[in-house]
Amino acid sequence: MTRTALIATTLAGLAVFASAAHLEAYITLGATVGGRVVNLRWDRTVDYFVTNRDIADVTAPQLQGAIDRAFTSWAAVPRTSLGHQFVGFTGAEPVGGDGLTVIGFRSRPELDRTLAAASFEVDNVTGRILEVDIYFNSSQPWSVAAGGRAGSFDLESVGVHEVGHLLGLGHSGLGETELRADGGRRVVAKRAVMFPIAYPGGNIDDRTLEADDKAGITELYGTSDAIRNTGSLSGRVTLGGQGIFGAHITAVHTATGDIVGGFSLTSRGDFVISGLVPGLYIVRAEPLDDADIGSVFDDDAGVNLNFAPMFHDRLVAVPRGGTGPGIEIKVKAK
Ligand SMILES: [Zn+2]
Repeated sequence: MTRTALIATTLAGLAVFASAAHLEAYITLGATVGGRVVNLRWDRTVDYFVTNRDIADVTAPQLQGAIDRAFTSWAAVPRTSLGHQFVGFTGAEPVGGDGLTVIGFRSRPELDRTLAAASFEVDNVTGRILEVDIYFNSSQPWSVAAGGRAGSFDLESVGVHEVGHLLGLGHSGLGETELRADGGRRVVAKRAVMFPIAYPGGNIDDRTLEADDKAGITELYGTSDAIRNTGSLSGRVTLGGQGIFGAHITAVHTATGDIVGGFSLTSRGDFVISGLVPGLYIVRAEPLDDADIGSVFDDDAGVNLNFAPMFHDRLVAVPRGGTGPGIEIKVKAK
């Protein structure tokens, strides 16, 4: 059997992401199978093991508890169907090749900004997920304290992000960062657990999924009830009549303030954002400038950053169970 290995890495203050393939609305993880890109999605319950080793501040059962809560957060999104089952503790490492989905710590002192990574093994013929391994870098300071602990990364928060990858989600563009003197990025604000850069130590906000995360998981695991009760919006981003590839699209629900993001993913500038709560939306196109492009797109060559942010000139109605009118957002050069 041929296998493809993909790796998604979460860094502290610096984003690196090795593989994001795109189909429609969200950046979801994909694998190329027989020349076409297949979304990575579990077609069965995720049976996972947890390594049986303690580290300085986290015991193996505490790790298992944090991971279980992370899975539960995703599974609790209404109108989705995804199963997870803790099988047991294992002496196996969280690395590929054994057919087991293993979550645990690894000591990677040489990766001084890496918090965690998820890696996939995929059947190259069918695109079926064979296993996903997640490691947390034990060279970083970790906490499982209920309210978080200053200076230590919250294991459950980073766990929710990594389990999002395990389930097939790529990175979101919904965050604001500022560059640090050392070239890394500091998060100023984020509206998605799946934004590629983690909050600093002590912060526990990423234990809670945001609207963007929920829309993404609904696209992958939504039930027929979800399809009936959510809607989508679609359109193009153009500059002088030419399509813009890689524009970050944000849609704000006028009644709730919830934000969901997506990207234009063709040379025509086409985008689709689905899994939306019906209602009126404010839609905006902007360059992806708050995360390293490589953390969102696997190939950043074609991503266009050379335009000014632009609101669509009217509100867009997203109907229940349908798609709003195709819109064109005409941006101007920077
Ligand atoms: Zn990530």
